[in-house]
Amino acid sequence: MRISDDRYTKDRLRYDLAMRLILHEARTSTIRAWTGLSDDRIRKLYRSYAASEPGHSVKRHRGKAPRQAAYFLSNPELRLQSANLAAILCQLGLLDHPAGDDTLSAASRFCEAYEAFRRQHAEPRIGFEHAWFLCHALRRRRELGLGECPACGGLVVMPSFALHPQSCSLCTHGIREPEAALMA
Ligand SMILES: [Zn+2]
Repeated sequence: MRISDDRYTKDRLRYDLAMRLILHEARTSTIRAWTGLSDDRIRKLYRSYAASEPGHSVKRHRGKAPRQAAYFLSNPELRLQSANLAAILCQLGLLDHPAGDDTLSAASRFCEAYEAFRRQHAEPRIGFEHAWFLCHALRRRRELGLGECPACGGLVVMPSFALHPQSCSLCTHGIREPEAALMA
């Protein structure tokens, strides 16, 4: 039967997404909002994950989600990683105004972006909830915006009130130069 098939697929997607979010240590409130699962079902998923992977512990965050835009610009490494994450979000169309996408597919696209970001950094400094906050802040453009590094043209995350973007972390710290020299 078509209808129950659809419902089954949707349920499956919901659980898969919840597991993905649990692994990324998303907050329970985020998991609930994105999957529509009840707190009780989410608790059971945590328990079944813990039982199936005894050596791996995932933290369960219950407090408030991050709200500090300045966090992403607080040091060169974070500026670099924020710019990189922003570029991935941009490529996957996550900074556009949410189209007719339903929550489940938008959420899995965001997970894809976050997973791509984690693969690119040996020590990712931006947790899942911060990444989601960055995505949200870049869409809203009230506190943070995007610009181009005046030296290399690379993407930078900048405060919305700034008139001109600063150089990216790589140019500021001369990391870009040796690479350019090698190419010459
Ligand atoms: Zn640059």
